[in-house]
Amino acid sequence: MLKEAKKINWSPSYIKEGRFGQWLEGAKDWSISRQRYWASVIPIWQCSCGWQQVIGSVQELAELSGAEITDLHKHIVDKITIKCPNCGKLAHRVPDVLDTWFDSGSMPYAQAHYPFENAQDFDSHFPAQFIAEGIDQTRCWFYYLQVISTALGRGVAFRNVIVNGIVLAEDGKKMSKKLQNYPDPAELLDRYGADALRYYLLASPVTQAENLNFSETGVEEAIKKITLPVWNVYKFYDLYGGNERSVLSRANWHSDNILDHWIVSRLYQLLGEIDEAMMGYNLPRAVRPLAVFVDDLSGWYLRRSRSRFKNGESQDKDWAVITTNYVLQHLSLALAPFTPFLAEALWQKITGFDYKYDDKSVHLLSWPTDLSVDEEVLAEMAAVREIAELALAQRDAAGLKIRQVLSSLTVKGPSDRLSLISSAGLDILADELNVKHIITEAHNIVNWEVSLDTTLTPELMREGLARELVRHINLLRKESGFSLSDQTIIYWRATSPLAKLTLDELAGTITKETLSGKIVEGRPDQFLAHKTLNLDDGILEIMIAKLN
Ligand SMILES: [Zn+2]
Repeated sequence: MLKEAKKINWSPSYIKEGRFGQWLEGAKDWSISRQRYWASVIPIWQCSCGWQQVIGSVQELAELSGAEITDLHKHIVDKITIKCPNCGKLAHRVPDVLDTWFDSGSMPYAQAHYPFENAQDFDSHFPAQFIAEGIDQTRCWFYYLQVISTALGRGVAFRNVIVNGIVLAEDGKKMSKKLQNYPDPAELLDRYGADALRYYLLASPVTQAENLNFSETGVEEAIKKITLPVWNVYKFYDLYGGNERSVLSRANWHSDNILDHWIVSRLYQLLGEIDEAMMGYNLPRAVRPLAVFVDDLSGWYLRRSRSRFKNGESQDKDWAVITTNYVLQHLSLALAPFTPFLAEALWQKITGFDYKYDDKSVHLLSWPTDLSVDEEVLAEMAAVREIAELALAQRDAAGLKIRQVLSSLTVKGPSDRLSLISSAGLDILADELNVKHIITEAHNIVNWEVSLDTTLTPELMREGLARELVRHINLLRKESGFSLSDQTIIYWRATSPLAKLTLDELAGTITKETLSGKIVEGRPDQFLAHKTLNLDDGILEIMIAKLN
């Protein structure tokens, strides 16, 4: 039994030699009989002369006793006698019943009614690929399954096992009805959904044999980290991506945009990480990379691709749309084992199947293979994001809003890492930081050193204000209930010289970026919304009206 048990894969792995291994080492004889009433009867008949027989089936008992057997409960079976072949007296069943763990340990055979039926099916399914139970079962179910399969010469009863800890109340005490120290599960499901609860538990150490102090905040976190950002990406895609519903194969995907290459490589990396962790039956390790990926997708890929989506009809827009479709389809797959409802809803939407077909479901797909990750693009984007973070902190410290365009950023870094960053990578960085130029210098240093030119020339101030105006006008559009296709007219009045110069010089840009019909100086009789900006050198008032 010790030798066979070494073949079992435990998650967490330390249980194998620890709790379970030690229990096996010190295993004592198992008294399988109990003096009880409700249990499986021990099928042994014995005579006062010493004759004994173990009965192997109902049929055998019927033949030996001549009785019709329809019920195996103790009070019925105890009345059945067998004529002793030695002395001719009546042999009776031994009065004891089996220890209930004998039944639990016999589950694999009993559920298939093996060996009386289903022998072929049973042989192809035994031992079990995977079982899961609580840590208290190392001395119970896990153990008795193994004892019985070994006794039957069957080797291991299961190949892999996930050992769960105990879910406790948030205060670390046992959950108790009397103390009411836990949230009502039905309310929890209503409020956050089954996916959030499932994700929270799977990601927690409770699937690694540790106890968990259940926290409602943890369930809420799952919504914030997974459900909402994933759905927001989909909504954005749906709004700007139109009707792209193709089921894309990697072979006909050849975007030349580095953001697309990066997110697809991140996707493949994610699928690889999940696959590896699942093969090792480590659930928290399988679940945790999901939130990191979702953050990369929504907080970087989509944010940096927004203008691509809004960029009219262009090849680059097409690739942004196609890539996002591809990523969301595969993300559904990645989410499927952990948040099955969200995964299915997303997949049905993104494929356009929309629940129209009974045989189309993300849960019927195979896990993707052939996931080649481009390590270079991952390293490049990692460098770009590190630099961006440092520079944004400098912007923050200088009190410069992100909408204020700046003239330049100087990046000093080790040459091997600097050389990873392509001109496309620098463009993304410039976009993210809202600077016009990026100057790079290779130095014999380990860490990045960045310095942002914070000098504001009049030209930069006008560009900054123009950006600010674009944002305000778009907000006003939204507040007034304009849709993307509605034509608007913007009126303005100003005492601020900066505002006057800006609107004279940059009205064209502002018109384009706010999808406005035109921008006119003056105050109309009627308008739908307005906003007054207090600038350093005066006031600027903007008003929005419908263009007839
Ligand atoms: Zn006898």
